[in-house]
Amino acid sequence: MKVERCQHKVKCDFAGCGNFADFYVSKRGLIHNEFAFCSSCMKELYKILSKECVPKAIESHYKPNRRKRDEQTD
Ligand SMILES: [Zn+2]
Repeated sequence: MKVERCQHKVKCDFAGCGNFADFYVSKRGLIHNEFAFCSSCMKELYKILSKECVPKAIESHYKPNRRKRDEQTD
């Protein structure tokens, strides 16, 4: 999969967005298998994707310590 700057006047593929696309993502170089989107939709997409991709190892690493501290105060 690769991201390229959109060279043509193509509408953003997100429903409800009337902007022209600035980028597109294509897979295996197939023109009919591409997804075009504008800069503002890309920022929103990045925001939600980064939430989905947050590593959860850090949270579970701190949990045992917090539980120990709670036991000591009791
Ligand atoms: Zn858009």
